[in-house]
This record gives sequence, C-alpha cells and structure tokens, in this order.
Amino acid sequence: MTHDRTTAPTSIVVFGGTGDLAKRKLFPAFFNLFIDEWMPVHFQIIALGRKPFDQEGFRAYVLENLKEFSRNKQFTEEQWTSFSEKITFLNFDITDENSFLHLNEKLTAFDVTCDNRANRLFYLSVAPNFIDSVSSSLKKAGMADEVKKDRIIIEKPFGYDKASAVALNQLLNQNFQEEQIYRIDHYLGKETVQNILAFRFANTVFEPLWSNRHIESVQITVAEQVGVEDRGGYYDHSGALRDMIQNHLLQILCMVAMDAPVEFESSLVRDKKAEILKTVRRIKPEDINHYTVRAQYTDGEINGKAKKAYRQEPGVDSNSNTETFVAMKFYIDNPRWQGVPFYMRTGKSMAQKKSCVIVNFKEVPNKTFVNGTDRLQRNQLTINIQPEMDIRLSFMAKKPGLDMTLNPVEMVFDYFESAPDSPEAYETLLIDALDGDSTLFMRSDQVEEAWDIIATIQEEWENGTYSPMHTYPAGSWGPEAADELLSRQGHRWL
Ligand code: NAD
Repeated sequence: MTHDRTTAPTSIVVFGGTGDLAKRKLFPAFFNLFIDEWMPVHFQIIALGRKPFDQEGFRAYVLENLKEFSRNKQFTEEQWTSFSEKITFLNFDITDENSFLHLNEKLTAFDVTCDNRANRLFYLSVAPNFIDSVSSSLKKAGMADEVKKDRIIIEKPFGYDKASAVALNQLLNQNFQEEQIYRIDHYLGKETVQNILAFRFANTVFEPLWSNRHIESVQITVAEQVGVEDRGGYYDHSGALRDMIQNHLLQILCMVAMDAPVEFESSLVRDKKAEILKTVRRIKPEDINHYTVRAQYTDGEINGKAKKAYRQEPGVDSNSNTETFVAMKFYIDNPRWQGVPFYMRTGKSMAQKKSCVIVNFKEVPNKTFVNGTDRLQRNQLTINIQPEMDIRLSFMAKKPGLDMTLNPVEMVFDYFESAPDSPEAYETLLIDALDGDSTLFMRSDQVEEAWDIIATIQEEWENGTYSPMHTYPAGSWGPEAADELLSRQGHRWL
C-alpha cells in the first residue's frame, strides 16, 4: 500500500467492459491513475463486452463517461489521447470458446511488444453466474497460469450464502492460487476506512482506551438516500443483509475491532480480521428477534420529492419479503470486547446519505462536575466515512465565563481540508491489485466467516416465524423497532 509507480508491463482485461461498473468506476479509476502517473509505463486495457462497438466508438463512449464520472474532469486532450491509445474493445461472448482464443492472441501480441510475458489483471465485472465459466475458460486456455504475474479480481456479491461462497472459493481455488484471487469490497479502499487502522495503530493515545474497559458501545451506520433505482430485480433477490451487512459493515467492524498485526503485511492484517469474524457471536434462531430488526420502506418523501414504496419499485415483487433496512446488535467474544454491543444499521431510501462509525466511551467514574441535575456527555469518537470525511472527538470543556459550567466541544480532523482531491476507493484498490498487494482484499476465510455470521439470520428470515418485517417511510431513519433495539440497553442511535 505504499508504492512507487507500478513498473511491470501489464495487460488489464475488463470482462463486462461495457457495463455500469466499468462506466462509472473502473475506467475513471484507470484514467485518474494514468494521469497521476501511477499506471505502469507499458500497459493496455482490453474491454470485453457484447455491445457492437468499433474501436473509435468505444473510445468515444469512454470519453463521454469520463466527462461525467471522472474525479478529475480538467484533463487535457493530450492526456486523453495517450490514455485512449491504451484501450482496445473486443466484442466478446463469455460462453464462446473462440472469444477466449481471440483474447489470448491479443494478450500474446502485447507480450511480444514487451519482450517479456506481461503481468495480467483480469477484472470480472460481470454477473456472478459468469464467474464459473470465465475462470474455467481462463484456466483451460492457460491465460492466467503465472502465479506471480496473473491476478483475477472478483466483484461482490461473492456468493449468495455460506454454501455458495464455499463452492465459489473451491471453484476459484481449482483454477487459481489463493494469492491470485482479489475479492473486492470497495469500502476497504476508502481513505476514511483505511485510516481507521492508521488512527488506531499509529498513535499511542487511542489504543489503550480501545476495549471494554473504556468503551460502552460502538455504532456502525451505512445509510443510503437512494432507493433501489433501476436495480430492483437484482436487489429483490439480495436485500440489505446480503448486500451490505455481510460485506461492507462486517469489514468495517473488522477494522474497528481487530488487534494490531505485528506488521502491516497482507497475510498478517487479514489474519487479524479473520480472527475477529471468528469471534463474532453467532445468533441463535430463537434470539434473532432480540438482536435484529428488518424493515422495508413504504412511500415517503426525500429532499422534497415523493418516493415510491419499495414494493412499487420496478423489478420488485409487489409482495416482496426482501428487507431494505437492517439494524442489528453483535457481540465479539474475546477479552477485549466481551460485553460491548456493536450496533449496525443500513438501509435504502433513508433520511440522509451517511456512513460512519461512532465509538461511545463510558461515563466518567467520578462525580467531580455533577451537581445534581447536570449530566456529563460521554466522550464520543466519530469516524465519518462518507459523504463527510472526518474524525471528530467530542469531549467536555469549561464554557468560557466566570462560573464553572461545562459543555461538549469537538476536535476535528477533516480530510477535505487536508486533501480535497483524494483518490477514489477503486483507484486505491486497482493500484494495489496491479502491485500484487492484497491487504485490502478479502481472503476466502474472511468471506466464509462473514457468511457464517449471518447464516442463521438469513435462514430465519426466509423460513422462520420469529422475525416480523417492519416498515419505515422513505426519507426516515428506519422503523421504531430499530430504536427499541438500542433503548432496551439504555442506548440510542446517534
Ligand atoms: P451490468 O449489467 O451493467 O454489466 C454487465 C456486463 O456484462 C456488460 O458489459 C455485458 O456486456 C457483459 N456481459 C453480459 N453477458 C455477457 C456474455 N455472455 N458475454 C460477454 N459479456 C457479457 O453490470 P454491472 O452493474 O456493471 O455489474 C458488474 C458486476 O459488478 C456484478 O457482479 C455486480 O454485482 C458488481 N457490482 C456492480 C456495482 C455497480 O455499481 N454497478 C457495484 C458493486 C458491484
């Protein structure tokens, strides 16, 4: 994660090069890395897709998308021209063997121009049901056989449940070595998420407080203001538990709760994360209602605009039983965290777009400043992930004046102030993958443990009887039941 410019010549192959992710995230990320001189000097991007583009047509399509989605929109014609020359479009059918032969020819031709076998990065930006055939075809054609040079990036969702994730891992492990497989969770590439580890492990002041001795509870919120938009068909088979908790929120939990690795090295960091996932207490079916709340949005209003109910969204079953909101409470059964509730919530069509972690510290043990009615506000550490990107430590201070009155104040570190143009998550992750650094990617055991954590909940919500489906109006902070989940323990969402 600390690198100089990546040097090895590389062929980048984007399966799904005409898709939404490639359009909004991947090409803008490659382009920004290129203009910031992070890309290898010698590279090519082969975009594969089924739309009938010719070369010029595809490059024009990429340019149009860069103008809309690139972080850096002030690029010169010269920058664009040199980047565009690196792009080749290949009309491609994943189910057709000839397509792979054609791809192989392109890769070999590039190797010849490098006088060496170039590195290869295969980005599978396609529906999960294609992973099987793409990885088997790559293996069969021997296109990704060089373990130290060839990498394959797999997008979420990684499986549908634990059994399918295990099966997918087995399949991938038949075709590639684990060190070649990069399972992406773009949350891990966010500056503010990566900074959680720097904040915790590169400072002496916070880590000694980071345990059940001083921390009362932790909250992790990932709220989206958007609904399911045009992804209703996909989302209705997924839901918030699979789409958000299993990956993004549990990965953030790992960053907050893991122990320090001896060294900031990929396998050591991932060992510590996997340890946390193993120690998250599994919820018994009969306790699910006590630990979790699920809900669906009904119609409401967001930013002054009417918003349809989830069940009326295009692609969604009008009797759908898919949750668009989850709130839950986890415990981590290790000495550091025993007894500390970790609350999580995530939802669509909520009041605000907001991702944050809030660490609530315990009450001051002595009563020096409590005079009957006054209550001291507890210290809180807020790590805002997006759209605000900052860290806020709230503490009590004396109000300026002649008497001894206290009020809460904040110390703030704001990312926008110090780095208004910081890289996007996909830029960080792509450069790591190009460099062969898998620290921020998920290993097979992490993914399987994360599925295991939610397995009983998934089962109970699908087949059981303990857990009602609540509702919340679009534009709100979720159902009342989510507040009750915390108020039972004297806590509240912040
Ligand atoms: P998409 O439907 O927009 O694009 C799919 C791509 O697959 C297209 O380029 C299409 O040409 C290609 N494709 C489909 N069938 C093919 C075939 N038989 N042969 C060759 N190419 C074929 O999908 P997307 O939104 O870009 O998502 C891609 C992957 O990324 C999915 O796994 C998705 O879950 C994941 N993902 C997407 C986003 C996002 O913001 N779009 C976010 C996170 C994860």
